[in-house]
Amino acid sequence: MHIFINGKFYSEKDANISVFDHGFLYGDGIFETLRTYNGKLFKIDEHLGRLFHSARLVKLQIPLTKKQLKQAIISAIKKNCLKEAYIRLTISRGKGELRYSIESNPNIVIIAKEFIPYKKDTHEKGISVITCNSERVLPEVKSTSCMPLVLAKSKATKNGCFDAILVDRSGFVTEGTVSNVFFVKNNAIYTPKENILQGITRGIVIKIAKKIAKISETKIKKEKIYSFDECFLTNTSGEIVPVNKIDDKIIKNAPGAITKKIMEEFKKEVENYYAKRS
Ligand code: PLP
Repeated sequence: MHIFINGKFYSEKDANISVFDHGFLYGDGIFETLRTYNGKLFKIDEHLGRLFHSARLVKLQIPLTKKQLKQAIISAIKKNCLKEAYIRLTISRGKGELRYSIESNPNIVIIAKEFIPYKKDTHEKGISVITCNSERVLPEVKSTSCMPLVLAKSKATKNGCFDAILVDRSGFVTEGTVSNVFFVKNNAIYTPKENILQGITRGIVIKIAKKIAKISETKIKKEKIYSFDECFLTNTSGEIVPVNKIDDKIIKNAPGAITKKIMEEFKKEVENYYAKRS
């Protein structure tokens, strides 16, 4: 694997960052995860838009333009001879003193590896989730400080579940550990509005949902989610992932009709995205 660090490629063995990098010391960094379909980046402008939004919120100066970053990502895909690629772009605060500071000396790292799709069963039968009282700091920021997510995921695994849905201190559902969450009841779709990452997939799904049903971006109390007919998670890698169990509540016949329709429409959105650019 060839890893991009600040404009050069290194082997896995030689791809190193200083122990004084504030990304390592304080979890002070931002990132994006992207993918390709058939060798071409999906929604690159949206991902870079969110990256620069994260950077603004944490006062991190990105030393490259969006165009340069896009070129760097493409070069990492090419260098690793990838067609279906999973790309992790990380920008850390960089090397500094042993104290908190927003002085930036960013390290830009791009890891591009083969995209491994979720198992077929995941989309055909759905996954189980637990709820977990946990919050991300600065939820709008795609931050490298992932401790609450690591712990929530580990709790899910320990309970024999695939993932966790986070519940904030006021008892409202926010998102999954690496996804946004949607619910369906009587043909109406609901998704949390606040304290979430603005998922790129979420954005696409909302657009689709508006065409096929009523959609509300709203606050959703944890107690309410057990009464929904359908639930699904969304993210770049998994697209739309049906949920068949939340805590002890089994969701029968997952994926439900609305989830299935959104899964189908999402595939069309991907095709349209590339059709417009060919
Ligand atoms: N929420 C969190 C906390 C995430 O980490 C992610 C993706 O990694 C998402 C939501 C979904 O975002 P996207 O659809 O842009 O992949």
